[in-house]
Amino acid sequence: MSTPIPRELLTGGYSLAVRGQLGPGAIAHRPASDKRTNTGRAMGSNQPAEVDVPVAACDPKGPSAALFTAAWADHMGAHACTEPGCFPEA
Ligand SMILES: [Zn+2]
Repeated sequence: MSTPIPRELLTGGYSLAVRGQLGPGAIAHRPASDKRTNTGRAMGSNQPAEVDVPVAACDPKGPSAALFTAAWADHMGAHACTEPGCFPEA
């Protein structure tokens, strides 16, 4: 289920998590973060082996997401996710 992005998110300057391509019909989730293996880590570097990646709050173990402002996501035609972990009140 999805619904237009709530106004209070648009005016509040919130970030939303979108998996895959941002565009018409994309689903914008409440952002959360998950620790993942740092696949971009260079051998011998002192970068952390695990990094926090943005994910959808309703599916924190699912694919990683990209963060966009709510206003931009709305402009691009995304809808809000209505799962309990995201925006059930939307
Ligand atoms: Zn969601």
